[in-house]
This record gives sequence, C-alpha cells and structure tokens, in this order.
Amino acid sequence: KGEVNTTISLRNMGGKMAHNLLKAGLTVYGFDLSDVAIAHFTEAGGIACNSPQKAAENADVVITMLPAAKHVKEVYLGENGVLAVLKQGSLCIDSSTIDPQTIKDIAAIGAEQGIQICDAPVSGGTIGAQAGTLTFMLGTDDKAFEQVKSVLAPMGKNIVHCGEVGAGQIAKICNNLILGISMAAVAEGMALGAKLGIDAQALAGVINSSSGRCWSSEVCNPWPGISANAPAGRGYSDGFASQLMLKDLGLAVEAAGQVKQPLLLGGLVQQLYQQLCMQDGAVQEMLSGSVDQLNACYE
Ligand code: NAD
Repeated sequence: KGEVNTTISLRNMGGKMAHNLLKAGLTVYGFDLSDVAIAHFTEAGGIACNSPQKAAENADVVITMLPAAKHVKEVYLGENGVLAVLKQGSLCIDSSTIDPQTIKDIAAIGAEQGIQICDAPVSGGTIGAQAGTLTFMLGTDDKAFEQVKSVLAPMGKNIVHCGEVGAGQIAKICNNLILGISMAAVAEGMALGAKLGIDAQALAGVINSSSGRCWSSEVCNPWPGISANAPAGRGYSDGFASQLMLKDLGLAVEAAGQVKQPLLLGGLVQQLYQQLCMQDGAVQEMLSGSVDQLNACYE
C-alpha cells in the first residue's frame, strides 16, 4: 500500500498486532529485545531490525506496544530513540498503557519536529489482539483522527476518539481499574462456588446469564475450562501478566491521588495483585509463562 510501518515490541500484544498488519498486506519493520518475539515476527513475514532507529528510519507510521512508561521514553527519546530518525509528517501511535502525562510530553517534543504522536491504548487482551478486534482508545487532535483510524483498522474493531493526546490513557486507566476489580470478584465467586460444591460450568452459566456477568466472567474467566482461549485454559500463560495489571492499578491509584479521588476497591485490589506478584516460584510460573523475562523488563 506504499506505506512503511514499524512496530516496536513484538510479544504478547505487539506480536499479534504486527501479525494483523502483515496479513493486511503492509510492509512491517520491527524491533524487540526478545529473540523469541523476533523469531515469531520474521516467521510471519516481518522484517526484523536490530534497534528502534533501524526499524523506524524509513517509516511513515510507528506503532509501539511497550510494557511501561520508562520503555516508551527510551524508545522515543533514548539513545536509539525513533524521534531522532523519523521524517517530518510521520505518525507515531503508542498503544502501551502508561500515565497520560508521559505521552503528552513526548507528543509535544514530536510536534516541534513535525511528527504527530498520539496515544491509543487497547482493550481486548491477547484474544482481541490475535483476532484483530481490539478496542483502541485514541487520544489525538481531530485532524489526525481519520489517518490514525485507517492505520489501526486491521488491528481493531472499535476505535474510540477519547479527546486530545493523553485522553486515551485516561480512558484505559479507568477501564483497567474496573477490570482489576471485576477479575478479583469473579475469582472469588468461582472459588467460593467450588468450595461450596457447585459445578464450575453450571456456576459460570448462571453468572453469564445473570447480573454478575462481565468480561472477566464471560470472555476471560479465571477458572480453567470456562472461556475458550482464556489463559486459564493453558496454565495461565500468554495472557495479561499480573505485573502489568499491578502497573495499571498503580497508574489509577496515582492518578486518583493527583485529583484527590478516593479509590477504595482499587487500592485494595492493587494490594492483592502486589501480594500475588511477590510470591515466588510455582505461583508466579502459573500466572505468567515467562515471568523471568517480564521481570527483566521492570528492573
Ligand atoms: P509483553 O511483556 O508480552 O511484551 C512486551 C515486550 O516489550 C517484550 O517482548 C519486551 O522484550 C519488549 N520490550 C521491552 N522494552 C523494550 C524496548 N526498550 N525496546 C523494544 N522492545 C522492548 O507485554 P504485553 O502483554 O504485550 O503488553 C504490552 C503493553 O500492552 C503493556 O503496556 C500492557 O499494559 C498493555 N496491554 C496488555 C494487554 C494484555 O492482555 N497482555 C492488554 C491490554 C494492554
């Protein structure tokens, strides 16, 4: 289509998103620190590069899907950062979940160079990333909206314009606050049901046609064997790592502190995930297939 795309970060989410760009017939250059992620990307037809700058040097569009704000700063502004090589008029879309201020600051630096940068965090998990049905929460000015929408189309079903840059992150933080709480609630309900002796399928059937129904009960039930394709059905691997949920709850609690908004359940569930992430060995392995690699990202 005459457009050169670059994606940076190619694992659980980024890898599947890049795959959908390739399936749409686009030329995609990519970079990740992980050899495994790179191998999957090249198998699918992507062109692997050995630095963010190499991946971005001829790009019209750059898409990033990184773990946290420090990785986003590094990839845009660091020693091998993409802003140093991107041409005027190029577009960057950061789909990582980070705090709103970081992307606003990076977008302001990009604007000085004539580079449009917007935030488009996602919902839908690895299942949605694979199926190309993600919801993108877009923060950008009105003039860029149509272009961004067409870039995101192969990867998403719903592209919601939330407002100016940073607004997508606000929506995402609020959404994941609710997700963290509802996931814990479903886990408690399913565990209680099991202890009281009801069949898990029967209980899930009732919840999913009753008022307890939510994404965590229906699409990504934490009890094995309830939701097709959910991480619970494959030893809790390749899903949304507990460390990432903990990060997002931290973003919500921090943002709430800034505007003096109480977050009673959010704070409680943040502590629950904190405890989960501090447990070692078997429990961590169960919750994420590749904890060592993920922990390395956060060091
Ligand atoms: P992941 O850990 O599977 O992938 C992150 C990748 O980033 C790793 O392959 C790592 O090597 C790479 N990376 C780290 N630093 C890098 C750098 N400087 N340059 C290049 N690559 C680098 O994480 P994920 O689950 O794909 O999540 C990515 C983002 O998407 C996070 O912000 C997360 O909160 C968000 N998110 C995840 C899900 C989900 O279900 N997994 C859902 C919605 C949003």
